[in-house]
Parts: sequence; C-alpha cells; structure tokens
Amino acid sequence: MSKRDLYEVLGVSKDASDAEIKKAYRKLSKKYHPDINKEAGAEEKFKEVAEAYEVLSDAQKRAAYDQYGHAATDPNFNGGFGGGFGGGGAGFTGGFEDIFESFFGGGFGGGRSQRPNAPRQGADLQYVMNLTFEEAIFGKKETIHYHRQAECKTCHGTGAKAGTSPETCSKCHGKGIINVERQTPFGRVMTQATCDVCQGTGKEIKEKCTTCHGSGFADEKHSVTVNVPGGVEDGNQMPLRGQGEAGVNGGPNGDLYVVFRVEPSDIFERSGADIFYKLPVNFAQAALGDEIDVPTVHGKVKLKVPAGTQSGTVFRLRGKGAPKLHGTGQGDQHVEVQVVTPKHLTDKQREALKVFAEEAGTEVGEESFFEKVKDAFKK
Ligand SMILES: [Zn+2]
Ligand SMILES: [Zn+2]
Repeated sequence: MSKRDLYEVLGVSKDASDAEIKKAYRKLSKKYHPDINKEAGAEEKFKEVAEAYEVLSDAQKRAAYDQYGHAATDPNFNGGFGGGFGGGGAGFTGGFEDIFESFFGGGFGGGRSQRPNAPRQGADLQYVMNLTFEEAIFGKKETIHYHRQAECKTCHGTGAKAGTSPETCSKCHGKGIINVERQTPFGRVMTQATCDVCQGTGKEIKEKCTTCHGSGFADEKHSVTVNVPGGVEDGNQMPLRGQGEAGVNGGPNGDLYVVFRVEPSDIFERSGADIFYKLPVNFAQAALGDEIDVPTVHGKVKLKVPAGTQSGTVFRLRGKGAPKLHGTGQGDQHVEVQVVTPKHLTDKQREALKVFAEEAGTEVGEESFFEKVKDAFKK
C-alpha cells in the first residue's frame, strides 16, 4: 500500500507555513467530514487529511517526515525486529507515538527499537587475559570465571513473586508512555512522558520477586572455556557470542570480548608470525665461521655461521616463528648476527690479537667499506 505525499494530501507546498497547513486542513476536513460529505471514499479522504495534519502540524513530526518520509510514521520503522512486537499496529494507529518517542525521546539506537518494552540485547563485557610470550604463540585452553548480569532464576526474569505474573500496566495500558498536560505561558500543551507506574515497561508488578526485588536480574558467577588460538598478539580481541549480560524483555545476551595481553620475551621480539633474535658472536666465530646453537620457541636449532660473516647479517630459520593467525603455515625466525668486541682479554688472547694486528697492519679486511670512505673524502 503506497501512501500519498502528506503535503499533496493537504494541497500545500513543502515549505508551507503552519498557518497555511492549518488553513488547508480546516478546509479539507470540512469538505470530507463524514457528517457532511456522503460520497463514497469521503471518509477515507477525511482520515487521510487528519493523518497528514497530525504530522505536518507538529514541528518535530514534520521534520522527521521531511527526512524519512512515510517510514517515519511506520510503526515498524527503526525496528530491526521486523514488527513482530508492539501489538502489530498496522498503518497509523498504535505505535505512532512510540516512533516519535524513539526519534526525540531516546535518540537513535543504532537501528534498534526504542520502545520501552521491545526486546533489547544485553550489554557486552570485556575480560583481559594475560598470556606469556610462548602461550600467545602456541595457544592455550583456559576456563575463565567472571560476574555477569543474568536472568533471575526465581522469577525467570519476570520480576514477579513466585506464583504471580506481571500484569499490563493499569496507567498506560501497556504502552509505557503517558500523555501529560502541562501549563505553560503559552497555554496548555500535551507532552509525552515515560509512564511513572511501570517505568516504561508497560508491565506492572503487584508483588515483587523476593530474590531480585522486581528487577528480573541477578548477579551470576559465570564460567566459560576459552580456546586461545596459536598466533594471537597483544591487544587482539576474541568475541564470544552470547557470553555477555542477559538481554532485556527476552532480547539476546550481549557478547564477551576476551582481550589478550601478551608478556614480552627477554630474548625474542615478535611481529605478526615472525620472530626476531639477536645472536651475539665473537670476532673469531664471525671471521672463521662456526656452527652455533640458536634458541627458538620451538627449541634449539643449529645455525651455520659462514666464515667472514659481518655484524648485522640476518639469517632466516624457516618455519621457526609463530603460526599465522590468518592463513596457514608458520612464520620464520630472523637471526641477526652481532659481533661483540671483548672488553676483557686474557694474556694469551691479547698476545694472539697482537700477532693478528701486526699481520693485518692498518688493513681492516678485504671488504671495500673503508675504500669507499676514502673515495668519499677525495670528492
Ligand atoms: Zn526474580
Ligand atoms: Zn505504565
């Protein structure tokens, strides 16, 4: 069913003043009034005019209509729940005030219905889990315990005393909203407010549950087993659907976000799936070459350092890193050779180095680095 444009219904322009709208409404409502006009379809026209006027005569409703069109007057709009709730109000009746209440009362709730008695998802929770450097790489299974808001087991969330159940609110008749007349300097105005008897739930609890005192919720110590996948990093979050707080009015539970805090390692650095390690060697090992045991998170690995290795050379140990969290396979361990100059020498070492020095003269080696420096000075 497509609805006519409300401005068209009243025969006014989009920028019509309030006075023009009022004038058009008076004229048309008189023309189509069922007591006056007995033509077929007159009553429908009359209703259509009344509906158009109800929206366009109210600045807030008119603004919403200008922005959202008929969707703003549809009870299912802003729903996300598809109109399964709220009494199934079709068209204009019922739900109308709720929509505008949701527009101007509670703000926009991310596409979620703001009707007080609509189901709402429970709050999300966060849990910080500390992991060692190795646990983050290999993963672990851990059962965590935390407190959350859950449905009261005594009343099953109704808030009513055992053997009783909540009744439709006698003041607002279940709408959760009441009309309030206020005296202002400009005269009496009708505004809407959340029902003070039911606090907007639409339900009245005559005798409260003694366990939860009517809230329908109770604190619960909850446990859940977390399977931490290998390869997580510091700051990663893992959502566990439905492990958060209980929903309201039968809405689903919120989620639990497990946040990982990974301890740094004394010897390794990590970036994604790759691990970095600095291997200290002495001058002789670097010059003559050596086979050295290198620590990795997977155990010791023999690394062949060839003769003449320079400080800063990086060797790659394939597959000795962390598992790739997104994708398959393992990262590598990168081993950076660092030639360490000794601070203390034995007499024998000093003698050996003197012999080496005499043999080498001022030559640093066959590498051309110092040649390049000399060239740079010549320019
Ligand atoms: Zn209870
Ligand atoms: Zn009420």
